[in-house]
Amino acid sequence: MSQRLYYDDAYTTRFEARIVERLDVRGQPGIILDRTYFYPDSGGQPADTGQIGGADLVALRIRESDAAIIHVLSHAPPGDQVQCQIDWTRRFDHMQHHTGQHILTQAFVRVAGANTVGFHLSPDSVTIDLDQLGITDAVVRQAEELANQIVIENRPVTARLIQPDEAARVRIRKAPDHLATQGLRVIDIQDYDLTACGGTHVARTGEIGLIKILRLEKRGDRTRVEFRCGWRALRDYQAKHAIVAQLVSDLTCGVSELPEAVSRLQQERRAAQRTIKMLRERLIDEEAQRLLNSAHPEGSVRWIEAVFTNRDPGEIRLLGARLTRSAQVLALLATSGDKAHLVLARSADLDLDLNSALKAALAALGGGKGGGPPDMVQGGGIPADEEKVAAALRAARASLLHPR
Ligand SMILES: [Zn+2]
Repeated sequence: MSQRLYYDDAYTTRFEARIVERLDVRGQPGIILDRTYFYPDSGGQPADTGQIGGADLVALRIRESDAAIIHVLSHAPPGDQVQCQIDWTRRFDHMQHHTGQHILTQAFVRVAGANTVGFHLSPDSVTIDLDQLGITDAVVRQAEELANQIVIENRPVTARLIQPDEAARVRIRKAPDHLATQGLRVIDIQDYDLTACGGTHVARTGEIGLIKILRLEKRGDRTRVEFRCGWRALRDYQAKHAIVAQLVSDLTCGVSELPEAVSRLQQERRAAQRTIKMLRERLIDEEAQRLLNSAHPEGSVRWIEAVFTNRDPGEIRLLGARLTRSAQVLALLATSGDKAHLVLARSADLDLDLNSALKAALAALGGGKGGGPPDMVQGGGIPADEEKVAAALRAARASLLHPR
């Protein structure tokens, strides 16, 4: 079994090792080294990436039979003595977040008696799951402040092995899920937290930088806490600051005045919508009056036919309703477009079968669905040009003049 050197030293990123075994991992070359600083995917911390003997490290696996670490590579290195390089930016990000997680987990225990039952770390998000619901904003703030206090105090973080009989005497927050070779590996954040863990950590809490909680999410009977540490927290601050600066410039106000400025915009928008609605109704009323004036009488009934281009069906419906408020009016309205729409409406005092007329109109249109109450029916929904919808209205008219 290869020596896992990252247990005692998380800071070595370049080292030399000897290939002691070569194997095939589903068509890709795998090697086992006599010693390795590469961290395999374990305990919520993702595996390292890097290079070995000029080849890219694709994946790290732990062999079940003997717990050997298999390094899966892009291609097999020629010699047995290889230079290894760990991607330090990625590893240090993991160390900041992993140690930050220990601190935040302990902070929630102390502030709210909430235990961490899950940890997730990926390039996009970092979360812990707490075994409680109803975590208040005040608790979040207290936990965040305690966590950052521990960071600012720059406490030493050490890893050591303790014997199983000693484990019973030492306060260990998280139950161990695996034992190291010569005992139980615990991570000690001085006078603050002691946790059984096999991951990589920073040497002093100050290296973590800012610990910032971003949001809470209810997940069944658990609370998921999303947070960021160090460089990621700074990137998040930079991105959000840029957004705020843009908004402040766009709205020409101070940062603290942003909520009020947005609320004022929303009020103005609602008022503008009310005005538009009122003006639109007024325009429809005037349009209805013009159409009524130009209606051609068939006996005592005033017939109105109108074809529009790409008009909003809601507006045509409104127009039909306005027209047929007057007595003895029949309105046959239609719009062309990708979704042609027909509206047939009559005054309440007329006894005409609009549903049959709509059926005839849709047949002339060549398809579409529709229906409605006795005094207003509508339908369509298929593409049709002005000629086509005019023909549909003629079919409706014929059906009304000569009912079968
Ligand atoms: Zn850890």
